[in-house]
Amino acid sequence: MKVLKFGGTSVGSPERIKNLAQLVQSDEPRIIVLSAMAGTTNSLVEITDLLYNKEMDQADEKISELEAKYRTRINELFATTEGKEKGNELITSHFNYIRNFVYRSFTALQEKAILAQGELISTAFFHYYLTEIGVESVFLPALNYMRIDKDGEPDSYYIKENLERELAEHPQQKLFITQGFICRNVYGEIDNLKRGGSDYSASLIGAALKSEEVQIWTDIDGFHNNDPRYVENTGTLHQLSFDEAAELAYFGAKIMHPSSIVPCKQWNIPVRLKNTLSPSDEGTLITDESTGKGIKAVAAKDGLTAVKIKSGRMLLAYGFLRRVFEIFEIYKTPIDMITTSEVAISLTIDDDSHLAEIESELAKFGNVEIDKDHSIICIVGDFISETAGSAKKVLEALENIPLRMISYGGSKHNISVLVDQKDKIAALQALSNHLF
Ligand code: ADP
Ligand code: ASP
Ligand code: MG
Repeated sequence: MKVLKFGGTSVGSPERIKNLAQLVQSDEPRIIVLSAMAGTTNSLVEITDLLYNKEMDQADEKISELEAKYRTRINELFATTEGKEKGNELITSHFNYIRNFVYRSFTALQEKAILAQGELISTAFFHYYLTEIGVESVFLPALNYMRIDKDGEPDSYYIKENLERELAEHPQQKLFITQGFICRNVYGEIDNLKRGGSDYSASLIGAALKSEEVQIWTDIDGFHNNDPRYVENTGTLHQLSFDEAAELAYFGAKIMHPSSIVPCKQWNIPVRLKNTLSPSDEGTLITDESTGKGIKAVAAKDGLTAVKIKSGRMLLAYGFLRRVFEIFEIYKTPIDMITTSEVAISLTIDDDSHLAEIESELAKFGNVEIDKDHSIICIVGDFISETAGSAKKVLEALENIPLRMISYGGSKHNISVLVDQKDKIAALQALSNHLF
């Protein structure tokens, strides 16, 4: 069984959906994981924000706008009266559901239920379209098998058991259509795997079934050596190791959800990145093999907060770091980067929802400084044979950018620096000019 995930652009218009219907047909068994049509999840986020803020008339207007978009798509996508009728019924039922929340009190739970509508609609559309053109497929509801546990982590055992049970109900079938992104939580409520989470869905499905391969189809020809949104003339990397890809994804390469490599790495399942707009391109193959030495790629992650604790008296005495880290553990706040000196420790966090509490606890140890709006720039490659040279090249490239923190030696394939977010693009461009 192969797992193929198609992102928002790949299902972004009736024309794209029609192309996709040709692309997914094969004699081999396949699970097709779809995102919402491009722009839909963003619109649903806007709608839920308006509902939260009790701006009900505007919410209602936005809902109608999105609904109208879908009505035009139905006419372009389906050729038969029956197809159009089914499409219209689908849209009526999903948009009635969303509209139900207008002029009512609104909770986080309902927000998740609204965000799920994009993937529920795109998969149903695709399944109806395949039926209309005479291609047999099975609609596989992700809410029947995809689940996170009480800590928000995927419940691998539950996913495997339930997915296998669902598939066993259709032993003769080869083509399955399912939703990315959406899942249930430990209470059985509708939840999701965070923004961009369809990649994660695909790799969790791949890992659950020990698939031969997971393919991520998107709007670019594979993993690039720098962020193409900010840097010109980036180049495609045709091969990466799981560790290299995981570092890049975690530190901001938007082409993959930050956690999506982990399940495939665990079961050694190759991940292939492909371009829906140009399917014959080679793309990128991610496996457990690392090829080539030296620096391969750069990525950046925004929105980081730097926390500095200064304490001449007890810093680096044994037990001190444990007490500092314990505070972050209590508030379930992961730390991304750490540097130490004799008198201070600096670290970065991505999630600052408990920053105030963390700051007041840390203040018991010494002077605490908080700097918001920073970016981690992560430089990835195989540095083992080129240790001195790689670090020198990175620092030379960044000679005109103020560096707040530098992390080197944490693993053999990562050098990270922390810069002010306003310097990020300049840093990415300087690295591109100097390294590639
Ligand atoms: P999808 O909707 O298919 O999931 P995304 O927008 O999430 O697509 O991811 C693809 C986008 O990721 C590309 O269009 C590109 O702009 C961006 N991107 C950021 N960094 C990289 C990178 N290193 N290599 C390739 N694409 C990248
Ligand atoms: N539709 C969701 C989002 O926009 C999930 C995804 O596209 O991967 O975040
Ligand atoms: Mg994505």
